[in-house]
Amino acid sequence: ELNIKNMKLEKNIDSLSNIVEVSKYINTFFSSDNLMSMINDMIIGILGVTYSTIFLIEDGELRIKASNIEEENINLTSTQLININNGDEFLINSEKPLKRNEKHKINIHSIMGSPIKLRDKFIGYIVVEHNLYKFLNNEMKVFLRSIANQIAIAIENSLLYKELEKINQRDPLLGIYNRKYFFEFLEKNVNKESDNKFAVVMIDIDDFKKVNDTYGHQFGDKILINTANVVANSIDSKDILARYGGEEFILYITDFTTEDSVFNKIEIIRHNLEKSKVSFEGQNKSVTASFGISFFPLNGADINELINKADDLLYKSKKSGKNRVLSGHIFK
Ligand code: GH3
Ligand code: MG
Ligand code: MG
Repeated sequence: ELNIKNMKLEKNIDSLSNIVEVSKYINTFFSSDNLMSMINDMIIGILGVTYSTIFLIEDGELRIKASNIEEENINLTSTQLININNGDEFLINSEKPLKRNEKHKINIHSIMGSPIKLRDKFIGYIVVEHNLYKFLNNEMKVFLRSIANQIAIAIENSLLYKELEKINQRDPLLGIYNRKYFFEFLEKNVNKESDNKFAVVMIDIDDFKKVNDTYGHQFGDKILINTANVVANSIDSKDILARYGGEEFILYITDFTTEDSVFNKIEIIRHNLEKSKVSFEGQNKSVTASFGISFFPLNGADINELINKADDLLYKSKKSGKNRVLSGHIFK
């Protein structure tokens, strides 16, 4: 009796340490895009099952997120379907084959499944199958349940992480990218394809201090938001707009044919801003901005040189009367 108890205890410790391992593993890779297939492989490895499939609810539908069976060969039995759709746990063993995978010529005799729930909300399902009768048992069911819990936590962590990542990329007031993201983007995307030309535009609102002094800081914020919107609405999907600092913006422009076309694009932005109005106590106000454009590789070999050049041209725009665009393809 003692021996049996000992064996049981050892088994329990084994499965407990498996659960700890699984949890460690999931937490290490929770931000990975193929987390689900990694977890699925792990289930197959630890439980020794023939097939394992993870479903997650997306847009209100259960979708296959990971499986070691080709999608067209998953063919769920009606019992499986009922349990999966109800989000119920189940375990079935049958001497008669429950189903057959024709492609692999394998009969399935043992099936179980566990719902993935996040605080009682049904968010997915795991199904495992084995060709041997009674291969899957209640202990394995407990293990699968614990993996399902881990998956739920991992999914929540990963969503929070992605949200946080997004927040960290944006300016909280204007909703556009921040300076940190802008530089990271350029570093990641631009140096690699150095034969591609692109433009950097520095933008600075004219006499913004006066706006703050005359109408107050809150109105100044409104002007900033409007300026960001005007620029954002006049650029293309591959262009990147970021807040460089206080009332300064930086713009990355790509996919253009000629330098003149970039200059014209910025002229339109300058004009759109000049035209656009922000209301203050029943009156409509507008601001203007000055712009400096530099081109890669024409005006500099790296981002610092390009920013310096754009900044220099912006300064010249200010000096020569503001509300003006100066471009590095004309003022080399
Ligand atoms: P210039 O035409 O030469 O650019 O003149 P300016 O008054 O715009 O010059 P400057 O760059 O010195 O002034 C920037 C001002 O922007 C100073 C600062 O108080 C204000 N500012 C910076 N960030 C914010 C913000 O988030 N909200 C508001 N309301 N004002 C800001
Ligand atoms: Mg400034
Ligand atoms: Mg300014």
